[in-house]
Amino acid sequence: MKACFMSLVRNDDLFSILPTIRKIEDRFNKNYNYSYVFFNDQPFNDEFQKKVKNIINPKSEVHFVHLPKEMWSYPDFIDLEEAAKTRVAMKDIIYGDSESYRHMCRFNSKWFYQHPVMAEFDYYWRIEPDTAIYCDMDHDVFEYMNNNKLVYGFSISLHEYESTIPNLWPATKNFIQQRPHFLNNNNLIKFISDNDGDLFNQCHFWSNFEIVNLNFYRSLQYQLYVEYLDKTGIFFYERAGDAPIHSIAASLFLPQESIKYFDSIAYMHPPYTHCPIDDSVYLNNRCDCNQNDDFTFQGYSCGMQYYEATGMTKPKGYEHHMK
Ligand code: GDP
Ligand code: MN
Repeated sequence: MKACFMSLVRNDDLFSILPTIRKIEDRFNKNYNYSYVFFNDQPFNDEFQKKVKNIINPKSEVHFVHLPKEMWSYPDFIDLEEAAKTRVAMKDIIYGDSESYRHMCRFNSKWFYQHPVMAEFDYYWRIEPDTAIYCDMDHDVFEYMNNNKLVYGFSISLHEYESTIPNLWPATKNFIQQRPHFLNNNNLIKFISDNDGDLFNQCHFWSNFEIVNLNFYRSLQYQLYVEYLDKTGIFFYERAGDAPIHSIAASLFLPQESIKYFDSIAYMHPPYTHCPIDDSVYLNNRCDCNQNDDFTFQGYSCGMQYYEATGMTKPKGYEHHMK
């Protein structure tokens, strides 16, 4: 398969990304040798490149990419003073005062798939520093995506802080009103709205882990949508994350059966862990996470909403994991 692992990282993230890569290699990629792409708004230093390459099987290609300025800067339609005022006004919201965080979210929404290094790939798996996977994967997950016509795969879902995106849903509704034919007949709107699209319930797939067919991002629907959102200034006048944007697009534009919840991919990004509570999944995949940590059915998660929206059967004993 033409697939890669992709991560946007800083040189300072070296000792946080190494353990992530190690687990990906040990649990999966040592048998498959898929490529890695590392993006950075600064040039990667020699130490970063050397130590990262050192723990990846030499059969895998590794790309270290210094981003072109266009992918990490203000577009000309943004009023810089207005953007600065927003950062002050949002100082009490997580990352609300950060300029780089906004460039990061915009990159992960609008740019990553447009970088020429991604052109050779059909699928990507996004990875981040300080994350972990806890189960063996003894089949090729990219082939699985392809064979089953899956487009978007996730492990953890949760609620967004509404104050980071007050205008995301109104803007989305305007966009859909202009292009109602973009709505998939068999969409997953039930996951992101409790009242048929009137309001956004803040549920989204946590995009720090995602396995996706890149044609989803290359589609006309997605590109026009993110272009439309970008023009509203939502990345700089608010603090829009890429996760709700990817998730809303997937939930509206894709048939729901092409969205895959990877229960068997145990995954941790602080502070949440997905660990399969079904013993057959846990044992078959030789997992080593603590099942009591599983976030899926806890309050802030959207696991319940996902199971309800899709009609999937919840795992046995899930009631004991609702904290
Ligand atoms: P969180 O997961 O939302 O708390 O945000 P993170 O701090 O984990 O950032 C998300 C991803 O973007 C991580 O892979 C970071 O390494 C990366 N990242 C965040 N800010 C920057 C930045 O300014 N430069 C680069 N190169 N990467 C960044
Ligand atoms: Mn992170």
